[in-house]
Amino acid sequence: MSNITHKIPLDTLNTFQVSATAKHFIQIESVEQLLQDYKEIKQYPNRMVLGGGSNCLFVDSFDGLIIYPQLKGIKVIKETPEHIELRVAASENWHQFVQYCLNRDYFGLENLALIPGTVGAAPVQNIGAYGVEVESFITTVDCFDFSTGEQIVLNNEECGFGYRDSIIKRAAQGRYLVTHVSLVLSKKLFPVISYAPLKAHFSNNKNISATQIFDKVVELRQQKLPDPEQLPNAGSFFKNPVVSNQQYKQLLNGFPEIVAYPLEDRRFKLAAGWLIERAGLKGKTFGKVGVHKNQALVLVNYSDNDGKNILRLAETVIKKVFELFAITLEPEVRIFQDSMQ
Ligand SMILES: Cc1cc2nc3c(=O)[nH]c(=O)nc-3n(C[C@H](O)[C@H](O)[C@H](O)COP(=O)(O)OP(=O)(O)OC[C@H]3O[C@@H](n4cnc5c(N)ncnc54)[C@H](O)[C@@H]3O)c2cc1C
Repeated sequence: MSNITHKIPLDTLNTFQVSATAKHFIQIESVEQLLQDYKEIKQYPNRMVLGGGSNCLFVDSFDGLIIYPQLKGIKVIKETPEHIELRVAASENWHQFVQYCLNRDYFGLENLALIPGTVGAAPVQNIGAYGVEVESFITTVDCFDFSTGEQIVLNNEECGFGYRDSIIKRAAQGRYLVTHVSLVLSKKLFPVISYAPLKAHFSNNKNISATQIFDKVVELRQQKLPDPEQLPNAGSFFKNPVVSNQQYKQLLNGFPEIVAYPLEDRRFKLAAGWLIERAGLKGKTFGKVGVHKNQALVLVNYSDNDGKNILRLAETVIKKVFELFAITLEPEVRIFQDSMQ
C-alpha cells in the first residue's frame, strides 16, 4: 500500500500561516522507509522537502509531492577531552538542539539560539545569526539523493557553504533530503561577541558564560523579531545584498549613513533592512500584510490566507528599493509558486 496521501492542507505547516494544499504528500518516518518508497517518490518530478516551514512562502497550492521527514534522534559519534561530535536527525527542532548542547556544556551554538525550524534545514541555507554560521560546526551532512536513490555523505567542503547558501539549496528542488547532520562542538567556550549589540552588552565582562550569551541572544531576538505564533512571518524575507567596492562608494555619495559591512574580498554587504527602511516601507501595511515595524527585513501576515499578497508585497519592496538604490534585493525565503491544476 502506498504511503502517499493527497490534498493535504499546509496551513499549519508554514510559519506565514497562509492557506495552501499539497496535491500529494508523504511523511517519512525512517531512512528504511525512504529506501522502500524511493521509486514511487521519484515518479513525482515536482517535489520538495518540507521541514518546519519557517523559510517558505506558498504562493499557491503545491502541485506536486511534499516530502515531510519525521526523523528523530541525537547520537554521540566521537568524544575527546576537548570536543564532542554529534549526529543529529533532520527533524529535531533546532532551538531545542541548541538548548540540549548548552545543558551539556557543548559550546558554539549559543549565538544561533531561537532560530525556528529543523536541524535538517540548517545546512540548506547555512543558517547564521549574531556573527556565527552553522557551517563552522558541520562535519558531514547525510543526504538521500533522489536522482540516484543513494544515501550520500557530504563533507563540509562538499556542502559548498556560502552566505545563506549551500549545494543542497542550489540543487534542483527535491533532489536531496537531508537525513542527518553531524556537528563538532567544543567543551571549552570561545565566546563570539563581535556582533555590535553583544559587544556592547559584554564589553566589561571578563568571564562570559555560554548561558549568558544564549540568554542575551534570545532577549535581543524577542525584542526585534515577531514570534511567528503571534504574528506569522518567515524571518528575514531578503538577503543582505553584496556590492562591489566601487558601487559602495557611489552609494556613500548619495547616502552617507548607509549601513554596510566590509567583506574580506573588498566588497561590502549592505543591511537590506536599512535599504527598506530608507525606502519608506518600515511599518507600512498593505491590506492584511505588511513590513514589520521593528525589523524592516521581515514581512508579516496580519490575517491574510493568500500567499499571493505576501509575494506582491515582496515585489513592491524590491521595486521601491531598486528605484532608490539601483539594487535588486533577492529573497532569502523559498517561494513556491506552482498552481494546482
Ligand atoms: C522569526 C524567524 C526568525 C528567523 N531567523 C533566522 C536567522 O536568524 N538566521 C537564519 O539563517 N534563518 C532564520 N530564519 C529562517 C529559518 O528559520 C531557517 O531558514 C530554518 O533553517 C528553516 O528551517 P525549516 O525546518 O523551517 O525549513 P523549511 O522552511 O521547511 O525549508 C526551508 C528550505 O530547506 C529545505 N529543507 C528543509 N528541510 C530539509 C531536509 N531535511 N532536507 C533537504 N531540504 C530541506 C526546504 O525544501 C526549503 O527549501 C528565521 C525564520 C523565522 C520565522
